[in-house]
Amino acid sequence: MPEPRAPHRRSPQRLVFRLLLVAALGGGLAAGASAPTARAPLEAGVVAALVDGRQLMVEAEPRPGEGLLAFARRLCGDVGAAEAITQANGGSGRLREGLRYRVPFALLAPELQLRVARALFAADRLTPEGWVHRVGARDGAGESLWQISEWFTGRGENFPALRERNALAETDPRPGAELLVPAALLRPSLRAALPSPPSAAMAVADVPAPAAPPLEYGRDEQGEYAVYRLRRGEALYSAVVVRFAGLVFADDVNAQAAEIAKRSSIADVTDIPVGYPVKVPLELVLPEFLPVGHPRRLEYEAALSASARFRNQVTAVDLAGISVILDAGHGGRDVGASMGGVWESLYVYDIMLRVKRLLESYTAARVVPTTRDGGEFRLEERDVLAFSRGHAVLTTPPYLIQDSSVGVNLRWYLANTVHRRSASQGGPEKVVFVSIHADSLHPSLRGAMVYIPEAGRSGGTPPRRGADYGGRREVREHPQGGLSRRELVRSEGLSRELADRVLAAFRAEGLAVHPFKPVRETVIRNRRKWVPAVLRYNHVPAKILLEVCNLANAEDRALIQTRAFREKVALALVEGILGYYGAAGRPPSQAVAAAAGSR
Ligand SMILES: [Zn+2]
Repeated sequence: MPEPRAPHRRSPQRLVFRLLLVAALGGGLAAGASAPTARAPLEAGVVAALVDGRQLMVEAEPRPGEGLLAFARRLCGDVGAAEAITQANGGSGRLREGLRYRVPFALLAPELQLRVARALFAADRLTPEGWVHRVGARDGAGESLWQISEWFTGRGENFPALRERNALAETDPRPGAELLVPAALLRPSLRAALPSPPSAAMAVADVPAPAAPPLEYGRDEQGEYAVYRLRRGEALYSAVVVRFAGLVFADDVNAQAAEIAKRSSIADVTDIPVGYPVKVPLELVLPEFLPVGHPRRLEYEAALSASARFRNQVTAVDLAGISVILDAGHGGRDVGASMGGVWESLYVYDIMLRVKRLLESYTAARVVPTTRDGGEFRLEERDVLAFSRGHAVLTTPPYLIQDSSVGVNLRWYLANTVHRRSASQGGPEKVVFVSIHADSLHPSLRGAMVYIPEAGRSGGTPPRRGADYGGRREVREHPQGGLSRRELVRSEGLSRELADRVLAAFRAEGLAVHPFKPVRETVIRNRRKWVPAVLRYNHVPAKILLEVCNLANAEDRALIQTRAFREKVALALVEGILGYYGAAGRPPSQAVAAAAGSR
């Protein structure tokens, strides 16, 4: 009996998809002695099937223009399932419209698993104790306990537990019998549908994040402050300074932790009693944590809701007609952050190449990299990367990166040229810009974070152009004047939407994301706030600067030195972009929801 196959993911060499076209599916593959295939339509182009009376699956047609990744995402909730879908269909080529492809039950998104089970086992009942399955008789070939166990629990090996629970004398149940599959054994997707779990231990372990803890506010001779009472296991720097002041750079975090300790009369920061009132000067507190009605909070909320009015209106399920500008941060003599022998420029360039490969192989997007190391794009299949300084910005002519600020400015000149071209072809929205970085923050922080351009701090007069700029076509042809106020607000909204999509994909891939404020409108450092230049002067409406992880955190630093992690990051980015251009039904922006929820 075949075991349900775990989805294969992110094995780069194997991502050369060879798809079998399951043309014969409708005609009935099985000529042998096995039971016939049962089918139940779920929706247009999607059919639940029990093939040969044994294998649960969906047979689905690609939608017009839908590529493999979008197909995998729609049915499995995860582009990472693409390779396993390929294997299940064992052949070559791209998806073709009008053909049905098999998607094994184990790969399906949880809600689709549930719909398949309900459609094919219509006589089954759901009780708080578990799923009651009526054993089918399929032309003489009954269901085996192993099969039932595999369908409902994901493991055929669980069959002795079913036999015991149902006090069966025989190995296989007789047709028409009712069999209880206990809640504790059920697949999570099926268990979630039970009327109510019989005990807390069986509840699905997907607890929503707790709401932001309430702050109290006060004033003393040193001015206004917010009070937070530490909970068990919380540390001053992460629970207070990072969360409420939004600081992330080590110098800032340490300096503010010391200042707050002093202000709060804490002698030893490593030994603060639970519940101790920690005073945070109000001018340090992020606007979303200020008292309701505070002018700075009102201003922040007004900016959020102004930009949230703008949502992406362009749909392109396979990214046809979309230009994706991929900007690997730094390069050349500008190595970016470097910690413990890891150079940011090398690793983010590798991730860029992986995103490029995925997009070019499995979507119809046009990929525009801003930099290249050497004469060609070469992806090294190794974990630890060799040092290189050969990166050039791909302007006309290219700029071998010597000066980091020239390197940065030429990137947005280049991006603006791509955007102008796209706009002239009627698609100003059909461009996204993704700058890929890895930062160096307080070592306690882990995971990804995204910068988007705050409208109020974007635009303005670009820096003066020196000799390095003048000779380049993108600079020569750049129009005078920047974006209007409305365009800046709109860009903040679209960029936040893209950022939310990318971070949702990170979470879905099991990649770490900053626990506090992972989408940030500005860099906050050294008591200053600013929008990175590559976003600030960039005319592309949807643009993000993604920090994939924190190189100063040992765990993150070890991860980025593996191909598996970098490929996963690349997949999540692709999934985020696919989500941005996906179908309607968008969730509200996290930031807006958070602001509303903390009221
Ligand atoms: Zn960087």
